[in-house]
Amino acid sequence: MTYATTNPYTGETLATFPFATDAEVDSAIEAAHAVFTEWRDTDFATRAAVMHRAAEILRRDIDDYARLLTLEMGKLLSEAKAEVALSADIFAYYASHAAALLAAEPLPVADPAEGQAELVCEPLGVLLAIEPWNFPYYQIARIIAPQLSAGNTMLLKHASNVPQSAARFEALMLVAGLPKGGFTNLYATRDQVSRILHDPRVHGVALTGSEAAGAEVAQIAGAALKKSTMELGGADAFVVLADADMDKTVKWAVFGRHWNGGQVCVSSKRMIIVDEVYDAFLASYTKGVAALKMGDPRDPATTLAPLSSQKAADDLRAMIDKAVEHGATATPVGPDIPNQGAFVQPTILTDIGEDNPARYWEFFGPVSMLFRAKDEADAIRIANDSPYGLGGSVFTADTKRGADVARRISTGMVFVNHPTMVKADLPFGGIRRSGYGRELLGLGIKEFVNHKLINVV
Ligand code: NAP
Repeated sequence: MTYATTNPYTGETLATFPFATDAEVDSAIEAAHAVFTEWRDTDFATRAAVMHRAAEILRRDIDDYARLLTLEMGKLLSEAKAEVALSADIFAYYASHAAALLAAEPLPVADPAEGQAELVCEPLGVLLAIEPWNFPYYQIARIIAPQLSAGNTMLLKHASNVPQSAARFEALMLVAGLPKGGFTNLYATRDQVSRILHDPRVHGVALTGSEAAGAEVAQIAGAALKKSTMELGGADAFVVLADADMDKTVKWAVFGRHWNGGQVCVSSKRMIIVDEVYDAFLASYTKGVAALKMGDPRDPATTLAPLSSQKAADDLRAMIDKAVEHGATATPVGPDIPNQGAFVQPTILTDIGEDNPARYWEFFGPVSMLFRAKDEADAIRIANDSPYGLGGSVFTADTKRGADVARRISTGMVFVNHPTMVKADLPFGGIRRSGYGRELLGLGIKEFVNHKLINVV
C-alpha cells in the first residue's frame, strides 16, 4: 500500500506520496491538540465564518475541485461537480445551524426547590477521520463540518488512492481561516492509526469504509477506550410493488444502481420486484442499463464511469464468477466495455438462491441482483434478509402504503419513490453490519461531544 494518484481511465500513475513518519504523526497530534485548546473557546460565529468561507470557495472553484475527483477516482465530471456542491451545502448547513443544534438543554426536574439542571455540549478534543475514496470530498465534509463547528479538531487518514483530494481539502480549510493544525491530512500507515488512537490527546475516530476496516479500527478504538462511529457497507433493497409507475421506477433503478460507477454504500444493489410486475421490470430495466454509455468520465456524453481502479474491476469480476459458481445466472448487458479504463461489463444477476452466499454480498460496481418476490410481505422479507442495514427504497403509487412498508424495512434510512439519497439536511447511517452512529444534522454533531450535566442547587 502506498499513497498514489492513478487515473482509473488511463491507468497512468501520476504521483506518489511517501508515508508520514512517526515524528510527523506526533507533531500533527500536538498541533491539533494545541489548536483545540483555543478553538474550543471560540464562539459559534467564529467557527461559522470558517464554514461559510469553505462553502463559498468550493462553490466558486467548483470546476477545479471537481476535475481532481475525476482524475483520482474516475467519477463522471458531472457527478464530481454535484459532490463539490453537496460538500459546500454541508459546510453551509453547519454554519447556519451548529449553534442551535448544540444549545444547552434545560432538564425538567421534579422539584425545582432542589435546583436547576441543564445539559451542555462541550467538544472532546482531537478526533481522527478515516475515509474512503468513493466520495473523497463529501466524506471529509460530512465529518469535519460538524466536528470543527462543535469545537473539536481533526486529523485525516484518507484512502490511499485519493491523496491529492485529501491534501486539497486541508489547503481549503486553511484558506477558509481554520488555524493551522485544526485539520491535518496525514498519509498514515495502518500502524500509525493505532498510534494515533492510543494517544491520550485523541478522543475518538469516525470511520467510513468496509466492514473489514470498521471491525479492525473499532477493535483498536475499543482497546484504547475511544469513542467510534462506523459508516460501513450496504446492500440497499429497491422494492417495487405492483402499482408502481414503471417508467419512473425503472429510471430510478438504473440511476440508483449505476451512479458513481455503482460504487456507493447506498447504491440500490438488490432489486426486489413483486411477481406481477417482475417480467415487465426486468425487460425495461435491462433496456435502461443497456443504454448506459461507458467512456471517458470527462466526456459529458458518458453516463457510466469506470471503477476506481483496475484492482477493483478485477475483484468485482471475480465476485460475479463466484456468484455464478454458486448457481446464479449472470447476464451481461449493453455494449462491450471500452478497451481502456477500469470498466466491468454491466451485469444482471438472477436466480440467486437462498443458499448462494453472494445473496449477502456487497457488489461495489455495475452489478444488479434481481429477486422475484411473491407479494409485498415476501418483498419485505427478502429486503430484511441481509447482514446490512443502511438504506433502502420502496416504489408504489400509494405513498401511504409506501411509508408503511418503509417502517417494516429494517435499515437506517428508507425512501419512498426515490433511491436512498444523500443531502446536507438529512441524517446518514445504518444498523447491523452497516455500522453504528449517525452523521449529519444534530445526530452527527453530537456524536463527539461531552453531554455534560450542570446542576445548580
Ligand atoms: P476500505 O478498504 O475499508 O477503506 C476505507 C478507509 O479505511 C481507507 O482510508 C483505508 O485506507 C482505511 N483502512 C482500511 N483498512 C484499514 C485498517 N485495517 N486500519 C486502518 N485503516 C484502514 O473501503 P473502500 O473499499 O475504500 O470503500 C468501500 C466501502 O466503504 C464499501 O463497503 C462501502 O459501502 C463503504 N462506504 C460506506 C459509506 C457509509 O457512509 N456507510 C460511505 C461510503 C463507502 P487504505 O486506502 O490505505 O487502505
